[in-house]
Amino acid sequence: MITMLVGLCMITVFGASEVPEEWIPCSVCGGSGKVEQTTPCNACEGSGRISSTMSCPKCGGQGWTACNRCNGTGNERCGSCFGAGVMSVKCPTCNGTGRSEGNECPTCSGSGKVNEPCLRCNGKGDYPCGSCNGTGRDTCSYCGGSGSVTQSVTCPTCSGRGTVTVSATCPQCGGAGGVPSRR
Ligand SMILES: [Zn+2]
Ligand SMILES: [Zn+2]
Ligand SMILES: [Zn+2]
Ligand SMILES: [Zn+2]
Ligand SMILES: [Zn+2]
Ligand SMILES: [Zn+2]
Repeated sequence: MITMLVGLCMITVFGASEVPEEWIPCSVCGGSGKVEQTTPCNACEGSGRISSTMSCPKCGGQGWTACNRCNGTGNERCGSCFGAGVMSVKCPTCNGTGRSEGNECPTCSGSGKVNEPCLRCNGKGDYPCGSCNGTGRDTCSYCGGSGSVTQSVTCPTCSGRGTVTVSATCPQCGGAGGVPSRR
């Protein structure tokens, strides 16, 4: 009977001091109610690097550069006729002798040579550049003609770590920071 009374008295004392329970800080979050969680970086999918597309520095984004061979003109000077468009060939009538049946060859006026349109350039003196097919443009080797290059750069979101730390509610204490414990 006496023991019981003492016990009741003890409870009353605790109640008066308004600390009836002992507060045990959460062992997981140390009392903050928050935990730092490391999760894979969404921006780079955990790789720490992202690809960044930029305009090609070599061709300025146009995807081509002026053809080296023709200087961008698209035409090459004919090497067979040296740009003249005609070639001097042996006169077919007199076989280059300049004489025909004892007289001056009427075809070549006795010179034994006639001018023939250059076969290689069709008489134009030049022909489409063999390197660029007459376009004057070479596909940019740096960007492959796309005009843009993709570079791998350090992910700015995670500074290349591949993971980010986020603050989350402590799963242990549900954000309370600790648990009350009656002793
Ligand atoms: Zn906690
Ligand atoms: Zn990242
Ligand atoms: Zn060319
Ligand atoms: Zn002739
Ligand atoms: Zn020619
Ligand atoms: Zn380019």
